[in-house]
Amino acid sequence: MPLPQRPIPIVGGNWKMNTTRATGSDLARAVRASAEAAPGVEVVVFPPFPYLMSVGEILKGGPVALGAQDVSERADGAFTGEVSCAMLRDCGASWVLAGHSERRHVIGESDALVNAKTRAALAAGISVILCVGEKLEQREAGQTNVVNETQIRAGLAGVEPNALSCLVIAYEPVWAIGTGRTASPADAQAAHAHIRKVLASIYSPDHASAIRIQYGGSVTSSNAAELFAQPDVNGGLIGGASLKPVDFGQIIASAKR
Ligand code: PEP
Repeated sequence: MPLPQRPIPIVGGNWKMNTTRATGSDLARAVRASAEAAPGVEVVVFPPFPYLMSVGEILKGGPVALGAQDVSERADGAFTGEVSCAMLRDCGASWVLAGHSERRHVIGESDALVNAKTRAALAAGISVILCVGEKLEQREAGQTNVVNETQIRAGLAGVEPNALSCLVIAYEPVWAIGTGRTASPADAQAAHAHIRKVLASIYSPDHASAIRIQYGGSVTSSNAAELFAQPDVNGGLIGGASLKPVDFGQIIASAKR
């Protein structure tokens, strides 16, 4: 029996609360050029809300998709400051992050809210990168797999198999995000393999092997290739280095198979 083909790698750039309209536009032009030079790697950027439209204009017709860093689980109404799935689509966004560690651990989003956002986005036809990962104390207590499994099961509750083609998982150990500490390729592979096992038990082995699992946490142009070479690592979600056009271009290139 032939082994299932490895899915197309996907690299995301999470700009967080950085850039201006001008610097974001320059960055978008650079990312577009890098992605055009690396066919076979899917690329998506997540600018701040106010720049979705201007960045979207620059990306139009090219290989880079536009994503939002957050979305409301509600459809519309009196929810000051919130942004709906329909608004994201109206602005040209086709991806959204759910469960990013800064939203879980700084803003205080629960597993239930992450699940509600995931379901709302998928129902609206927006693809989701669902982020999971353990804190340092959980890792030190040997709870990495348990934490990831809990967040995956809760985040995907009620998500039907037919929505999985629009879903990517990002394994992002909290202690590695923005810290300069990266999981070793072997540790990343072990966590990803366990996540895939969990996905197989929720859905099926075929579904699990088709779902992309990105690694995130202090990925740089120096460590990306080794991380992306692991069999269960299908690209990366990049924060700090996604703001540096040359570095991010090298990271995209190193995801190519
Ligand atoms: C992230 O924000 O998802 C992230 C992984 O950040 P960094 O690459 O800066 O660690």
